[in-house]
Amino acid sequence: MTDERSVVERLTLEEKASLVSGAGFWATAEVARAGVPATVLTDGPHGVRMQRAGSDHLGLADSMPATSFPTAAALGSSWDEGLLREVGEALAVEARALGVDVLLGPGVNMKRSPLCGRNFEYFAEDPLLAGVMAAGWVAGLQSRGVGASVKHFAANNQETDRMRVSAEVDERTLREIYLPAFEHVVREARPATIMCSYNRINGVYASQNPWLLTTLLREEWGFDGYVVSDWGAVHDPVAALRSGLDLEMPGTGGRSAATIVEAVRAGELSEDILDTAVARLLDTHDRVRLPREGEAPAPDFDAHHALARRVAAECAVLLKNDGALLPLDPDAGGRIAVLGEFARTPRYQGAGSSQINPTRVDDALTAIRAVTSREVTFAPGFRLDGTADEALLAQAVEAARGAAVVLVFLGEPSEAESEGFDRDDLDLPAVQLRMIEAVFEVNPSIAVVLSNGGVVLTGPLTARAAALLEMWLPGQAGGSATADLLFGHAAPAGRLAETVPHRLSDTPAHVNWPGSAGQVLYGERLYIGYRWYDRTEGDVAFPFGFGLSYTTFAYSELSVHVPDPTRPEARVEVTVTNTGAREGAEVVQVYVSDPVSDVDRPVRELRGFRKVRLTPGESARVAIELDARAFSYWSARHGQWVAEPGEYGVHVGPSSRDLPLEQRIHLDLAMPPTPLTADSTLAEWLAHTRGQEIIQEIFATSAGSSFITDPASQPLVAQIPLATLLSMGASPTGQLPPSIDDLVRKANS
Ligand code: BGC
Repeated sequence: MTDERSVVERLTLEEKASLVSGAGFWATAEVARAGVPATVLTDGPHGVRMQRAGSDHLGLADSMPATSFPTAAALGSSWDEGLLREVGEALAVEARALGVDVLLGPGVNMKRSPLCGRNFEYFAEDPLLAGVMAAGWVAGLQSRGVGASVKHFAANNQETDRMRVSAEVDERTLREIYLPAFEHVVREARPATIMCSYNRINGVYASQNPWLLTTLLREEWGFDGYVVSDWGAVHDPVAALRSGLDLEMPGTGGRSAATIVEAVRAGELSEDILDTAVARLLDTHDRVRLPREGEAPAPDFDAHHALARRVAAECAVLLKNDGALLPLDPDAGGRIAVLGEFARTPRYQGAGSSQINPTRVDDALTAIRAVTSREVTFAPGFRLDGTADEALLAQAVEAARGAAVVLVFLGEPSEAESEGFDRDDLDLPAVQLRMIEAVFEVNPSIAVVLSNGGVVLTGPLTARAAALLEMWLPGQAGGSATADLLFGHAAPAGRLAETVPHRLSDTPAHVNWPGSAGQVLYGERLYIGYRWYDRTEGDVAFPFGFGLSYTTFAYSELSVHVPDPTRPEARVEVTVTNTGAREGAEVVQVYVSDPVSDVDRPVRELRGFRKVRLTPGESARVAIELDARAFSYWSARHGQWVAEPGEYGVHVGPSSRDLPLEQRIHLDLAMPPTPLTADSTLAEWLAHTRGQEIIQEIFATSAGSSFITDPASQPLVAQIPLATLLSMGASPTGQLPPSIDDLVRKANS
């Protein structure tokens, strides 16, 4: 940052203060005199939303045409980092052409509850999967010179009261569940910027949280870009700067700059802190600043549409396919009935700041007609606004009667899920359920195609539909991707990144959702998603990691190699064979369990995965490395990641609930010493090398204290804090009890 430092030295206090908040909605300030350029930031994450006129951050004003790629809910289901990289590269080309330096994405928050209105913008209920997907996206984007802004940092897992609510969450849960996706992207993909969230975390606004923005992000993870606020998330610009925020967005018309100048003059804010923020901004601008509009090559929108189509198919999850109803033969005889307004009016993206103006939109009905020579009849069946329409219903039943196969397009209407508010339930709209019930009565050969950002309850469908294909919000080419899948020109290759529950009341955050009086308690702690259902032995509709293909796969020959048992590392190898008659992709998933532990741990956790594509009869040997984190938990006591010695299970298979292969491994790891505290028990003192010496020393001369130096004879005593024992008079004979604080200091020093 040497060059930036010299630029910073040439700037006046006022100029520097002007740089740490935006100029308007979408640009940073410039200082032309010193050659500091303005840069442009815009949403993100599944397309470029460059506004034409007017300014807002909620997608209300119109924006320039750009490709609408599948949303994160879909992308996360691909389990394919390479695919995300391709999407990132394409987004960068469009961003460059529109003069955008930083694209505001990806969103890597965890899907804590399926009710979160913004789950369509997030990848997964598992931090490893979300982190790997995000790293692919960021690497692709930044490889073409556009900066990413990984958001919303952190614990922004609901829309209800999102601008104020305090996420009450313990450190272990943060470290193991809500932060690792951010950590992975920072360490692996070096994002240009991180966007802090609106909410508070344990009472402190994310935008003013020094632990989050400095201790963790920069000092522990090594983040070297700048931190930008979510739009309007700063409450006190001086406190924010002090905590590690570098850029407040949008601009405040000079108010924040004036406050900062005043604080520096009054000696309340060190000018060094301001200089550091400015240097980080200038350094990042250098990394990402792009040719202005007209200077960059025009994107090939046709190629991007084709990419969006291929990606949407890769992300689709086939949940059911009885009797191999799908894929359909495009040239067989027999009429196809297409039902549901979504076939003609697709729902392909979510609402809010990510809403973009697509270059074009494919609908499934047109795409189906283009792909098949069979007779296709269409009936919308229901109104998207949810109002009952008996005539539409009757028409759909008539269309279904006697058809060789019925394709029913259902989903969540756009009013149901959006940025800014959460869903009330997980049910499909009543008019849609009524239609499908009526259609079930007249035709058993039914495939349902779903479009939704967050999961919906599938019980009413799976009971009677032969096939169920989850498309998520698949972007502007979702309609043609759907036709590709239905007729076998593409194979569904997605796996669930989010559990589909049976009931809303089964879901992990249910009793704590969405909080009240400004707080939401993360009472389920680590146990979100499959971690919850596995721990509570709950039955689910479709488990995390699940997804069918048009072929089948077999797993064999698992080997888990531990090169050195004193180090928490292993190499997993397994053979996967395509045992069916069609080409297909399988996602090999590796979960690790720690059956005996000093702390409560999830039953199993996803620790590695790899997607492989195999032709019929083909086998592949798949290797997945497990690093220290795969075996570790965050120990609040030790203030560090800890992998305990002992046995671990390594489980391999196609989903979190179907893990046919398991191998036990033994790790001879050394536990770090547990720091002793004023309330450590006698047992803890005796388990601590130095602590034990101290106990032996001070009680050596004390008659009748053998029950202290050898608590095996008195297990009850072992569980009493040493301080309590001392206060009850247990002390070396004839002396005052030693001070516990002195002993603790001595033991830990
Ligand atoms: C959203 C961000 C978005 C920003 C700018 C905020 O309301 O939470 O995700 O990037 O607006 O549009």
